[in-house]
Amino acid sequence: MNSVEEVLASLSTGEVEVLDLTAPLSRETPSLVLPEPFVNLIDFRIEEVSAYNEPGPFWKHHNIHTGEHVGTHLDAPIHWISGREGKDVSQLDLGRLVGPVVVLDFSAEATADPDFLIDVDHMTSWQEKHGKFPANSWLLFRTGWEKYSHDKQAFLNLDDEGSHTPGFTAACAKWIAEELDISGIGVETVGIDAGNAATLDPPFPMHYFLLGADKYGITSLRNLDKLPANGAMIVVAPLPIVGGTGSPTRVLAIVPR
Ligand code: MN
Repeated sequence: MNSVEEVLASLSTGEVEVLDLTAPLSRETPSLVLPEPFVNLIDFRIEEVSAYNEPGPFWKHHNIHTGEHVGTHLDAPIHWISGREGKDVSQLDLGRLVGPVVVLDFSAEATADPDFLIDVDHMTSWQEKHGKFPANSWLLFRTGWEKYSHDKQAFLNLDDEGSHTPGFTAACAKWIAEELDISGIGVETVGIDAGNAATLDPPFPMHYFLLGADKYGITSLRNLDKLPANGAMIVVAPLPIVGGTGSPTRVLAIVPR
């Protein structure tokens, strides 16, 4: 057997399992809400064109209406001003969309403090305990935020001072972007930065440093609690929208059992 056949054989015996890390896309899917005066993207919706009726008697089909950055989606480098000369979502390196996955669990910290920010110390102590992050890997940050994904209010956690959801310090975002040989990061929250990241320096530091360093980000992930800390593989499949700054993305994990 070649190595691909070995994986396929393991899939058929159940030794290897495919997990969906993607949130379902519907009108209810929560998306980012920017404060005034910024302009928000539209939410996802489908529009019926025919349903086995006069406009199409033998078939059903829809138009879809969506912003690029809705639901489980990927941020391409050109999404941010720091990556404006970089790749759009149709140009991403395919070899980096499949790779090892590492899961870092900060759910206890984020439950205790919704404004919790992951710092460089958390990253270096994780590596001391578990070893170096593999080359070409995706770092997925578990915060337990998935449990709010059915409730838009709780998921965005907005009050008069803004949104309260966990994320990264500016120093940590810079360190991840510049010191690690990874493909990208993924989070459970609506964006790759903390809810209050407009107040950090630079504002939205994970967007700024990660996308500026030609790395990719994914948001609104699910089922991270079902992944091992190490040893699984991820498949990230955004639509190749020409000139697109991001895309709703199917994210699958290939997990040994
Ligand atoms: Mn985005």
